[in-house]
Amino acid sequence: MDDRKFRNAMGKFATGVTIITTSVNNEAHGMTANAFMSVSLSPKLVLISIGEKAKMNEYIKESGKFAVSILSEDQQEMSMIFAGQIKEKRDVDFKWMNELPVIDGALVNLTCNVHNSHVEGDHTLYIGEVTDISLNDGNPLSFFEGQYKNIS
Ligand code: FAD
Ligand code: NAD
Repeated sequence: MDDRKFRNAMGKFATGVTIITTSVNNEAHGMTANAFMSVSLSPKLVLISIGEKAKMNEYIKESGKFAVSILSEDQQEMSMIFAGQIKEKRDVDFKWMNELPVIDGALVNLTCNVHNSHVEGDHTLYIGEVTDISLNDGNPLSFFEGQYKNIS
């Protein structure tokens, strides 16, 4: 089956947008991801899916932990920075939570320890056990049909 048809179909599933972050040797690394879901309430587990070519895979394997920041509608630029859609290097001032960098001003910051991982096709699914949560009010940045949207 054609890749474009599959992506067009998956793009009809409207999502929020997250930045996955981790830290190796006190250096922050981030990556934009919309493959994120809640998995379990007891224990509190979430799932992210990272493509095999992403550098983030090695960083998470090394650190054994990651954070998820759910972006607000005014944070499209953050998404573009961490998806490589803005080419020039930008300095990002991270907030730190449990020794993990997170995106300041996001709707949610979650910190997680890697609970399990599964290689499936060309992605690795990381199950994270949530260790801390920070919540803010606001509207989400959304992604639909390969485009950023504001739903407010
Ligand atoms: P890099 O290429 O190392 O980093 C990505 C970008 O972030 C680079 O431009 C880098 O300069 C910047 N960056 C990293 N750390 C910092 C820092 N400390 N300070 C400043 N800038 C920094 N891919 C998936 O695998 N899974 C998904 O669920 C997924 N969802 C996506 C959703 C959307 C809406 C978009 C637009 C893309 C998505 N991608 C997803 C693609 C993914 O974001 C890109 O392929 C990404 O560039 C891969 O990152 P990398 O780990 O190779 O990191
Ligand atoms: P797009 O049309 O490629 O994305 C639409 C949907 O297709 C996404 O929401 C996702 O569900 C799915 N998708 C896209 N690429 C995928 C991949 N490599 N593996 C699994 N599912 C994938 O949107 P776009 O604006 O062209 O995306 C920008 C870039 O970000 C592209 O390079 C795309 O591959 C990448 N991206 C990757 C994922 C992912 O790996 N899960 C998700 C979204 C976007």
